[in-house]
Amino acid sequence: ADGIVAAGARALRHADAVRRLEVRANADTPEDAARARRFGAQGIGLCRTEHMFLGERRKLVEEMILARTDAQRARALGALLPLQRRDFVGILEAMDGLPVTIRLLDPPLHEFLPDRTELAVRVATADARGEPPTAHDTELLAAVDRMHEENPMLGLRGVRLGLVVPGLVAMQVRAIAEAVVQRVRAGGAPHAEIMVPLVGAVEELRLAREEVEQVLARIGEETGVPVRCPVGTMIELPRAALTAGRIAEEAEFFSFGTNDLTQTAWGFSRDDVEAEFFAAYLDKGVFTASPFETIDRDGVGRLVRIAVDEGRAARPGLTIGVCGEHGGDPESVHFFHAAGLDYVSCSPFRVPVARLEAGRATLTGTDVSDSR
Ligand code: PEP
Ligand code: MG
Repeated sequence: ADGIVAAGARALRHADAVRRLEVRANADTPEDAARARRFGAQGIGLCRTEHMFLGERRKLVEEMILARTDAQRARALGALLPLQRRDFVGILEAMDGLPVTIRLLDPPLHEFLPDRTELAVRVATADARGEPPTAHDTELLAAVDRMHEENPMLGLRGVRLGLVVPGLVAMQVRAIAEAVVQRVRAGGAPHAEIMVPLVGAVEELRLAREEVEQVLARIGEETGVPVRCPVGTMIELPRAALTAGRIAEEAEFFSFGTNDLTQTAWGFSRDDVEAEFFAAYLDKGVFTASPFETIDRDGVGRLVRIAVDEGRAARPGLTIGVCGEHGGDPESVHFFHAAGLDYVSCSPFRVPVARLEAGRATLTGTDVSDSR
């Protein structure tokens, strides 16, 4: 067994010496970040922030989204700020010296709203007992009905949420910037990057970015510590890929969200990959592998290539990565190498495989020019 471990370590060293692709990890807790680092990740390519709003913090999120007054919303955001700051300090500390790409909140709304059935039962039960339901429950039910979406994955998510919930982007960016300042003052070398999700039009990114830059500048003035965080975007909608040249005017980096890009390009639900027709499609040879696992070179891959070309034509040297599940899939890693990406980002456990495949991709010699 020792021989196998030594051979593995040798292969990884060899791959690291030749590979062009950087390998980062998707991690959103200090523990995951530390694990990613042990597996050789060169940064965090995707720090999702959704889980940071669950559990005990859910009540505050409900309050933030359903607030009737600015004061109510401000109170909820004010309570969330120190919690978020602590989240980011821990992750930046674990990844000190390496880039950490923090993505602004991107939940499908239904995951954060209170459960409608539960609420409706509470209201109806009170009614049946001849008691008036609490004003809070009645209001909440009305708000949930008002915000109901038939297709939450195509609804108020990502940048859309940031643009319509006042103060949300500012709170997250303030938490990131204050965490950076705290780490700088502790003698660390934090490298936070801010990533805007689910952008389909340059105007969305422009609006979000303006708010981000304002907050960063303000924290710099308040603390006397200049905070420089690159601001970039996910490319995870076909429209984003097709208009990547425009979007690059506002983006300092791109990261492909191939989970959503596959979902929206094929029109398949990423949450129903167990559906029977998927197995039937594999049987019938419509595809040879699930497009959610291995990049679909002809369709989704074509969108990736268009976005890389357009993005770099508009902004030479634009840093481009991928942080969807495909970032840790061996065959897909070869595709991303050939498409000229700068890095892949995958779950911590897949980092060693991605490092090996990135090395093999260099050695087998396909690059942007000869695989088109
Ligand atoms: C993606 O869509 O590929 C992605 C990385 O974001 P998420 O999985 O969080 O939607
Ligand atoms: Mg996504």
